[in-house]
Amino acid sequence: MTTFLKVSTFFEELESISSRLELRNKLADFLYSLTPIEGAITTYFITGRLTPKFVDAEFAVSEKTIIHVLEDLLAKDETEIKKLKQQYNDYGNIFKELATSRNLKTQRFSIEDVYNKLWKLVKATGKGSQKVKFDLIKKLLSSTSPVEGKFIIRIILGRMRLGISERTILDALSIKTENFKTAKEIAEKAFGLTSDIGYITSLFLSSSNLETVKNQGNFTPGIPIAAKLVERENTIENIFKRIPNPYEEPKYDGLRCQAHVYLEEDNQVLTSRIWYKYVNTDARETLILLHTESKLRVKLFSRNLENLTPMFPEIVEGFRKVGQQLFKTLPDAKAFVFDGEIVGFNPNTGEFSPFTDTMTRRRKYNVDKAASETPVKIFTFDVIFWDNAALLDTPLCKRKKLLEKIRNIHPDIMLTPTHTPKYSKEAEKLFLDYISEGLEGVIFKDPNSLYTPGLRRFDWIKFKRAMKKELADTIDVVALGYYYGTGKWAKFGIGAILVGIYDEETDRYLTITKVGTGITEEQWKMLKKTLDQYKISRQLPNVEIPKQLMPDVLLEPAVVMELEADEITKSPTHTAGFALRFPRFKRLRDKDPTQTTSLKEIKEMYAEIKG
Ligand code: ATP
Repeated sequence: MTTFLKVSTFFEELESISSRLELRNKLADFLYSLTPIEGAITTYFITGRLTPKFVDAEFAVSEKTIIHVLEDLLAKDETEIKKLKQQYNDYGNIFKELATSRNLKTQRFSIEDVYNKLWKLVKATGKGSQKVKFDLIKKLLSSTSPVEGKFIIRIILGRMRLGISERTILDALSIKTENFKTAKEIAEKAFGLTSDIGYITSLFLSSSNLETVKNQGNFTPGIPIAAKLVERENTIENIFKRIPNPYEEPKYDGLRCQAHVYLEEDNQVLTSRIWYKYVNTDARETLILLHTESKLRVKLFSRNLENLTPMFPEIVEGFRKVGQQLFKTLPDAKAFVFDGEIVGFNPNTGEFSPFTDTMTRRRKYNVDKAASETPVKIFTFDVIFWDNAALLDTPLCKRKKLLEKIRNIHPDIMLTPTHTPKYSKEAEKLFLDYISEGLEGVIFKDPNSLYTPGLRRFDWIKFKRAMKKELADTIDVVALGYYYGTGKWAKFGIGAILVGIYDEETDRYLTITKVGTGITEEQWKMLKKTLDQYKISRQLPNVEIPKQLMPDVLLEPAVVMELEADEITKSPTHTAGFALRFPRFKRLRDKDPTQTTSLKEIKEMYAEIKG
């Protein structure tokens, strides 16, 4: 049995390491000293959660509640705690520093004890739950040592500040095997198919055999896989050179959605996930099928692996109908999984709603009201599990044939039109037609393309309106720090933001530009508030910032922003090796920081522009 004290002491040790390789090796040594269950829990803790992202298990503890607990435990008032926050940057550090001198009673909890106790916090919901949460946290912190308390607070707030991404964990798991390269490939593939870092950790720790990881790290209906991504090109002629006989589809600007329609989970598969026994099933997901008496479930997931099921009752209802029909014709089937885009739709005018309206549906409360104000439809463009098998290695043309079978079952479940233009001129005309309908562009797909989870390949290529301009597309970046600034907005304590991109090859964040233009007064206020939640006091090992650009405030990579820029240039200063000319802030993106525009894409965009 490993104590939570050991884990938290280890986390603290990691905070003093600045080399990424050393961090990975230390993490590997530590993980392999744990049992599979302890390893799984530890990796969830590292991500500041108790489960993978697709399971709704939120602590929902407000910062205020933490402040009140600290007030009580440290005998300070709210103003003092807020002052201390300025000094120590985070509530975990405050507890560690101040609780030491107060000599709290120390009890030795195991990793699993703390996991169980934290679940109680998640389970406390509804009216009066902040009070219940307050009592639970206070009790827990009263019986833990300062260093344990520091990390318990950080887990509850979901911000571990360790600079360890899921990819670093996969690297650490692979480094201890005989063949690092093969192990890493297997680990990444299994992660793409299960989206569950704790589960992959437990597979590696329980078996020295990579075949087991390969076999068990597989596609399970009910659990989202990473979405296939698209590449970009800036002329249709170039797209035809890459894909001579492409499909051409409208590119809807909404919310990517993976829809799982399946029979009651295969319990054996799911009980091997340690979070499974804690999770309640939402009544909205379940329907008793008359002919088999087994339960049919529908679950919807975003590209970010968030559970969208409670937010879109009409889409769930639509897929129930689809499920009923399909299971009637294929009674031995296990599941059907679809991929598509949810888009707001105005039934009176027949027009699509703007992206921002569709996003108002991304809420857990007042769902019915929002649904009547902004109805949505899903434009399904792929099927990736059918009957009893995953279709990831089946060519798109065959997947499209199966998809046809769900046409006209329910008015909210639409099929994305798929055209087969013979020449680039014909393709361009279709593109212009879609633009005039208000869409943002089209996507070309190779009829032979396979469904490669999480990967960008030139077999799916987008072509957008903006690509007619000089810089092919907007760029998604992550904030890495900010400067107090001396300009017009200096009174807000923020004048420019240092941003970077993620390099998937090396699992590092690299700087690419400073942005301070295109931001209104309101936006500066909002940005400062958002960014301040991620302040850190040291540079993380997976972030590379050149000395001459060191910001006044360092940030944990978390906040993703979309920028427009005039040009990409080579840069001797920025660690990405490239810089953006005249970057302008467009909006915040609800994306994982590892989903910024990648270094590889920046290189490709640069090459395209330079011809
Ligand atoms: P952007 O910020 O440019 O929208 P993004 O990173 O969100 O970028 P892109 O890579 O541009 O997404 O485009 C891929 C996305 O387009 C998919 O994730 C999906 O949500 C959406 N999409 C819309 N229509 C289709 C379609 N017919 N086929 C595939 N994806 C589509």
